[in-house]
Amino acid sequence: MNEETAPKNFTENSVEFSTLQETLATHFKWFHSHPELGLHEWETTARIRDILMDAGVKILDTGLETGLVARIGGSGTVVALRCDIDALPIAEATNLEYASKNGCMHACGHDFHLTSMLGAASLLKQRESRLMGAVKLVFQPAEESVNGAVSVLASGALDDVAEIYGLHTTPDMPVSMIGVSSGAVYAAVGSFAIRIHGKSGHAAHPDECRDPIVALSQIIGAAQTIVSRRTSPFDPAVLSFTHVEAGNTWNIIPEEAFAEGTIRVGGKERLNAIMERLKRVCKGVEEICGARIDFHCELNAPAVNNDSELAEFVKRTAQELGFKTGPSRPTMGGEDFAFYQERIRGVFWNIGVASPEPAHNPRFIANPAALSTAAALLSAIAEKSLKRLSSVE
Ligand SMILES: [Zn+2]
Ligand SMILES: [Zn+2]
Repeated sequence: MNEETAPKNFTENSVEFSTLQETLATHFKWFHSHPELGLHEWETTARIRDILMDAGVKILDTGLETGLVARIGGSGTVVALRCDIDALPIAEATNLEYASKNGCMHACGHDFHLTSMLGAASLLKQRESRLMGAVKLVFQPAEESVNGAVSVLASGALDDVAEIYGLHTTPDMPVSMIGVSSGAVYAAVGSFAIRIHGKSGHAAHPDECRDPIVALSQIIGAAQTIVSRRTSPFDPAVLSFTHVEAGNTWNIIPEEAFAEGTIRVGGKERLNAIMERLKRVCKGVEEICGARIDFHCELNAPAVNNDSELAEFVKRTAQELGFKTGPSRPTMGGEDFAFYQERIRGVFWNIGVASPEPAHNPRFIANPAALSTAAALLSAIAEKSLKRLSSVE
């Protein structure tokens, strides 16, 4: 660890910290070279379990098939730290000596998140007798498909948790810089699918058909006005068609057309309003074109919405440790951490890893030098929030 990344108030223990950094870097390289997709994180889970058990950390019986929840501390108030553990179906194109070779890749930094949590577990375990309550450490499966958080919540493992904190790497922030903001920091994410049932026939006789391609193109065209003409320019919103299918040759008007896509906005209510507008566009085109149109939409994840008091607490804690802080990078990406925040007060913060390429890119690299910073901040947040909550009671 160099001086810039070493936490200030741990300098007296710098030997301990450089050992932690070295251990974490070794773990990180193993996890990076063994990525697994959501709900298939078998080896990853087994390795996390082994490392925690070696450190004497208790693993809870949650019934989760992959991922796990551990607990450190005694009775009383409970707070949670959460990381995700799944990878992406991307063939890695970095030149790292520990690059993945199995066709999947930790291109979103989840290997970094889980390794920092192992570091936090080790630090919290050393201070277990001083904790004013308990910390639950959530190693969550399947974040990329945004349904892992729902299964962790359904297990009941977090029913007694008062506050929850999670982290995500930010590629374009300097190593170890902490980003934290209050309010919506990740978008509410919705998806939609449109199927048009027309009437097929000879392309020379369109009047005898109900052309689903023309209907679909009218929907796609009209949908572009929902954000540009019907949404305030002060409220960011995205509506993207991402997949279109219809027909298979040049002289037949097909029977069906299909399209799907996504909507991203700062809150669930606005997402519902945009979905409703898109549904009305489909209704209108159905009327004009005489083809039957099925419209399906769903909320994939609400917005990550940080509690303002707790965001301030995270910022202060990071500054007390000597880390540089700034606002989170706003993103229209989604995060299923939002599901926890619907039930538990919490904050999702960022840590800089100075990657040469963005997340979900085959050349994404999270700089492991920030691992002990992340571990130190996670453990300090847990310990201090327990202290604050106990003094309130
Ligand atoms: Zn991701
Ligand atoms: Zn991610």
